[in-house]
Amino acid sequence: MSDAQKKITATVLVVVALVVLVGMVWRNFGSEEVRADVRYLMDANTGKVYPIPTEDLKLPWPMANPSTGEKTLYPTEVCYWGEECKKHGGTRVIMNKYLGKEGPTKCPICGHVVRLHNPRPPDYNP
Ligand SMILES: [Zn+2]
Repeated sequence: MSDAQKKITATVLVVVALVVLVGMVWRNFGSEEVRADVRYLMDANTGKVYPIPTEDLKLPWPMANPSTGEKTLYPTEVCYWGEECKKHGGTRVIMNKYLGKEGPTKCPICGHVVRLHNPRPPDYNP
């Protein structure tokens, strides 16, 4: 390999590494899902979502809402299945089992059945 070829190879490798790095950082900022240090809890009465650092989580559910002091915060799953849900980056849903309700949990927006660790549709592109 000549010096010129080595330089070109090194430049290409640096560019590829930068693209990969920028892609990873972009994905982290673009989606709340990848934040492993925060759980998104929903107030069962108001539907308001609270990002709670994992070290502040107090089990069992429900957890006390920091605004009201009432035990109304539950973990959420995200539905990406309906067109509306996809449009606004997913709909947060409290599972029926946490609320003591029978039967499958359905997304209030699109009606899709929501499961624990709810999968994304194969065609979902955030
Ligand atoms: Zn939905």
